[in-house]
Amino acid sequence: MIEQKIGAGYGRRSSEKHDDVSLKTQSLKNREYAPKNGIIIPDEYVFEEDNFTGKVADRPVLNEIFKLAAEGKIQCIVVYLADRWARDVGAGAELINRIFNLGIELHFVSWRTYVRNTPMDYARYNMEILFSDVERRTIVNRLHDGKVNKAKLGYLIGAGRNVRYGFKRVERVTENGRVKDLERNFDQTYDHEQLSSPAQVARWIFENIAQRRGVTAVCDLLNDIYRIPRPGGGVWDDSTIYRMIRATEYYGQFYYGKTNGRKNKPVEERIVILRPDLALVEPELWDQANIVINNGRGKTALFEYLFSRRVKCTNEHKMVCMPSHDQHKEIVTRFYYKCRPNRFTKKKCELPGFRSTVVDDKVFKWIEELLADLEAKLRGLQKAQRVAAEKSSDILEKIAACDTTIDREERELDHLYADRKQYRDTPRMLARIEKDIQETSDRIERVRKNRAEYQEKFSQEVISDEEISYRVSEIDRINGILKRFGTLTFQHRRRLVELLNIIIVLGVESGRQYVEILWYGDSEKRWLYDEEGQQLESHTSG
Ligand SMILES: [Zn+2]
Repeated sequence: MIEQKIGAGYGRRSSEKHDDVSLKTQSLKNREYAPKNGIIIPDEYVFEEDNFTGKVADRPVLNEIFKLAAEGKIQCIVVYLADRWARDVGAGAELINRIFNLGIELHFVSWRTYVRNTPMDYARYNMEILFSDVERRTIVNRLHDGKVNKAKLGYLIGAGRNVRYGFKRVERVTENGRVKDLERNFDQTYDHEQLSSPAQVARWIFENIAQRRGVTAVCDLLNDIYRIPRPGGGVWDDSTIYRMIRATEYYGQFYYGKTNGRKNKPVEERIVILRPDLALVEPELWDQANIVINNGRGKTALFEYLFSRRVKCTNEHKMVCMPSHDQHKEIVTRFYYKCRPNRFTKKKCELPGFRSTVVDDKVFKWIEELLADLEAKLRGLQKAQRVAAEKSSDILEKIAACDTTIDREERELDHLYADRKQYRDTPRMLARIEKDIQETSDRIERVRKNRAEYQEKFSQEVISDEEISYRVSEIDRINGILKRFGTLTFQHRRRLVELLNIIIVLGVESGRQYVEILWYGDSEKRWLYDEEGQQLESHTSG
């Protein structure tokens, strides 16, 4: 059981100016505070000093309390605010010395604790006595403004509450004395040659994500092969990697005032502190990694469709993943690949939805057969390389054409801007020019988008020798997991599909659903339901 202390509550109303806090409120606050802090204030020990200055220590009601303390009847005094206790540093000093000498505690409700005999508490005590609330707030604001100005000069005040992985807190001596700062953490921490420090690991993650190694593969390598613990302990997972890749600190952009107490402040309200000296990756590498994760490659799917974004129908439509719900729209009962004809197709697609679980199982069986034959795997990838080399010249030409168009349209845009300046006093001309500007900008935007698509296609199709050997080693690694455990997680299976670069086409032939597996120019057709199941179905429908 916690030992209960007997305390006296003290409230004071000033004589020299009107007070914000009434005696009633002060006493109420004191009595609310007491039980939560192991203090009992008996009714007869609720003291209120009316119409008396806080600038002297000698006050009638206060003297009564000190008498109780000297007699050992109370162990603490509870006061709502420090300025209710004293309004003069001299008086405050005298009173706090008496408290310390008597060995009792002086609690301020606003502090949520008592005044300790330490320099920090003493400074705070004096400041609260000396300045009024408004003055205090002004001082705090001024200190804050000082910090803001410092932040604008590039100082990392306090170096942030949490230090990003790959950095460490240090103290630095500057003209202003010792300041807290950050440094890149190249300390030898892990038992691995190239990845021996958090800074190296952070950089390695950016490089691998930017090269489209896949978030799951990156996690697996860190967890299983390199055995590097996640920041804060535990194993690396997708969300840790995503958070890291999105953090601007890695290219040297830090913030002051990230949070407002506990809530995160919007980015535009934060002060940006640029510290290129702390960058762990170049801005280009950061951009590239962010493009990769924002493109949705490896994005954790809501439902697990092995071939999402990799499935077409026989009419060349992209098929989408779609769950179907029970009649109350609450429970997902089945998962489908469904056809969504693009908006230029007038005729709707006749194809039914395909059960994704059935499709996924069929194709994965095929993948398992393929994995059993390592030679075939290699042949397939080498063939892919040849095919890609032939195709790539075509794509490169398209990219070049886009660049030419963009150049031309941007020159046009420059002219239009000049015209706008020249005709700013001719409303009719101006309206016309504004419209042209809008149209030209839209055109540039469209071509840029096309160019990005070609670029994406190019990097998907052209595989270097290095990439091939990497993929083969990855496939072998996952194959090893499959052999050991007999089964793979969804992430691993999806990863295999991406490494092997498998596309599927779904279709119907004489009333039977099939999947065609496309793998680097090879294709193989497999029925989704075996003969008996199909017979059963036609029997019931006919
Ligand atoms: Zn279709």
